[in-house]
Amino acid sequence: MDPLSITASGAGLISLGITLAGGLINYSKAYQSRESDLARLTQHAKELESFLKVIENRNDRLQSSSTDVIDSLQGCRDACNACLQDFKALNTKYINSQPSRGLKGRSRSLMLKLRYPFDKEQFDGLRSQLHEFYVELSAHFQLINLDVTQNLRSEAISEFTRVVSVVDSVGDRLQSTISNTEYVVVSTIRGGVDQLKSAFEQTIQTTENNVSSRMDTSLRHVSDRFETGQEKQTTDIIFERRITIILELQYSRLTRDFRIHPTLSIRATVPRDSPAFKVITQASRTLRSAETTQRDAESMIQSCLTDLRHIFEDGKGWPADVDEYGSNLLHKLLYGLIEMGVPINEGNMHHHLCLRILNHLVQGLLEKNATLLDITNDYLCQIVFYTRIADLYETLGCTEFLLHVVARSKSDVAFMLRTDPSVIYERTKRDHTPLHLAVGWPGGLQVLIELGGSAIQSLLDAEDVFGTTALEYAIKMGDADSVKQLMQLDPEIEEYWAFYFLSGLSDRAQAESIAHTIAQSLALRRTKLLQFAKGNLSMRTIRNLGVRDDELLDAKAFDVANALRQQKLQIPVAYDVVQPGSVYHHHSLTALTAEKLFEAGFRLTNTEISGYTPVMTKWGDEYPEFIELIRWFEDHGADVHAPIPTLLEDRRVNPNANGLQPVYPALHFIMHEIGSSSRGILSRDITQEQLRYIRKLLSDRTTDPCLCYCTAKGCTSALKFINGHDPLYSWLWYDNIIEFFGLALSVGDETGAVLDCIRFWTFNRLGMKHTCCEYSPHRELGNVLEHGLLKLMHPDEVAEIREEDRHLAKQLGDLMEEFGRKFRELRWPPTQFMKEYWRPRMKEVEEERNELSVDEKHRIEEIGVVLDES
Ligand SMILES: [Zn+2]
Ligand SMILES: [Zn+2]
Repeated sequence: MDPLSITASGAGLISLGITLAGGLINYSKAYQSRESDLARLTQHAKELESFLKVIENRNDRLQSSSTDVIDSLQGCRDACNACLQDFKALNTKYINSQPSRGLKGRSRSLMLKLRYPFDKEQFDGLRSQLHEFYVELSAHFQLINLDVTQNLRSEAISEFTRVVSVVDSVGDRLQSTISNTEYVVVSTIRGGVDQLKSAFEQTIQTTENNVSSRMDTSLRHVSDRFETGQEKQTTDIIFERRITIILELQYSRLTRDFRIHPTLSIRATVPRDSPAFKVITQASRTLRSAETTQRDAESMIQSCLTDLRHIFEDGKGWPADVDEYGSNLLHKLLYGLIEMGVPINEGNMHHHLCLRILNHLVQGLLEKNATLLDITNDYLCQIVFYTRIADLYETLGCTEFLLHVVARSKSDVAFMLRTDPSVIYERTKRDHTPLHLAVGWPGGLQVLIELGGSAIQSLLDAEDVFGTTALEYAIKMGDADSVKQLMQLDPEIEEYWAFYFLSGLSDRAQAESIAHTIAQSLALRRTKLLQFAKGNLSMRTIRNLGVRDDELLDAKAFDVANALRQQKLQIPVAYDVVQPGSVYHHHSLTALTAEKLFEAGFRLTNTEISGYTPVMTKWGDEYPEFIELIRWFEDHGADVHAPIPTLLEDRRVNPNANGLQPVYPALHFIMHEIGSSSRGILSRDITQEQLRYIRKLLSDRTTDPCLCYCTAKGCTSALKFINGHDPLYSWLWYDNIIEFFGLALSVGDETGAVLDCIRFWTFNRLGMKHTCCEYSPHRELGNVLEHGLLKLMHPDEVAEIREEDRHLAKQLGDLMEEFGRKFRELRWPPTQFMKEYWRPRMKEVEEERNELSVDEKHRIEEIGVVLDES
């Protein structure tokens, strides 16, 4: 069946269902029996009937909040199901009924038996009808789309109404026929269903014809109007309109009543460069530009709104249009805010201006009936929280109480909480608690905390549908005050996540203040955990765990918590969130958070967990912040040369036999991370101090036990820096890297770092294969402990590859001798040397190799082999 007719016949089905239920009741009455099964069946049928009547009685006077149609139809289906079950039971009973003992019972049973064959047909008919109704009802769970032009909105509504009235009148006729005689019930229903079907089919056919002919006309009309130069074929996509007909069953909490009303929404899927989207993209771009002045921005916003109005009026767009990815104009605007770097709580003036203007634009779109289709992630939530536009909050689905929180009405919030304390448990459609919505409103949070009572503690750790708690929103939005208020309540936050969210904050003052709060509260929790342990564990156990009295509980916290758990002791939730390792092992630390932790009394910057120190568990993602972090670690006692642990099976190579250093230093891993995050570009943001530090690291000559032709005597830090670049893109960044070296190192290359690189590139250019160390993709301590950090090749494989590349290695050696000599002789900057000497020379080498193959070809031909020229 056509999807439109499925939905449209929903109303018809309901009246058909009522009829059926009426038939069932009459059927049961006909027996004049008090038998409980029949009574129950009658009861179910009555329930089904009244349920369907309630749905049918639409009451337009009631304003109510919407609930899902599926839920209500589900109830209807359940009632149906119960009826079916009882029918089945009844059937079985009639067939198998045993003679009763008493005379009265026997005669009744005999009467039923005699009567059964006469009633069987009617019985079966009703059962199959009920089953059919059940099946059709299930089919109505689907909602549908039809392509049509926007002009068809009213057309479709009237068609829909017509369908509904046809269905209703058929239903009425059925109803009156049935009440006359019960024996006609079955045949009338059958006839009615057929009639209904054909009536639907006819009406739907007409609607479809209307829709398609109207669409053709509109499309022709539209493409005629289309600006010259624009491709006609795109018009098909732009004006592919979708009509969504939704039978929306609304349930009102206040009146406890149901109503159904058809909602029609028109939404088009348009390409991202369609007119309205272009206007919005352009507006966002202008606002993002640092050169935009306030006046520019204001005049831009005016013209933007005017353009949008024209576009909507001309039918070239619609406020609810979506692009291929399901984003509408409002989403586009809000994502624009994210790109600008909101949270902008304490942001600079430019951001404030953007926020104000975007608010204006959002309002403009809302006035034209645009809706925020959906909130798909917590970034959008942050924006919605920030813009503080009531219409956007509608998307969240707030209750009356939550709306007061959103509107920041302290007196209303307090009043409602005092009147009915249970409102504190209310949540939005997206599971936001009042605490989530009050982030950024310290006064409001205070009221909630004071009047919310014991409920607050449970709301503290409540997550919304995106898995984000109120505290996490506060951190992400950079709201230091809210963080402080919420942290005081001892929420169950893993500091690991707190640090992770913090690393995303662009505003330094906000980040500093929040990092301070988190570090201090972490220190306090650790002190409390230790006190709790001292109160519950023996002194000997504590001593054996290696806990020291004069130190803040750090790397041992995990063992202490485990010891408590072994004693079956319930650790207070807030200090139970402990991970293995020192706080400095967290992989998403920044120099700022590290400093705050140090200030709070944590000192274990160089502590080992199974040989892994904190500098070995870091992502180098953020550059140059990562350099700053490593510098901080070195300044605070971390050893960047600490050996990275090797797995047992990797300890087969005897480095001493090859005259190599025995350990793989952490520094190489650090350089690998700097290499991969910098992409060879010396950032403009880098300070002179950071540059000096990079120079120091690049010039470090510590080597490792790697046997690879890319190095002369084990890997060096410069080599690992280049190695950090994805080999697939290393040629893309090649010029950058040389420039980086040129800037970072002195011309003379006293340390040999530049020659290391030249060797590496020559090795690559000759097409040789690496056998040196690599790193696993894990950085989080737990994973590193499980999978290891170093990835080493099996010694047999190393030997095999080195044997294969033996001849190329000889050529590499010769070339390196030449490049070394020339580099020292010419004393050119690395960039110039690579460009003017190395490149032409390598080209020559490649040509020689090609000639060599021509030579080989001759020799092959000499021995009588005919080579196919094609
Ligand atoms: Zn290598
Ligand atoms: Zn290595």
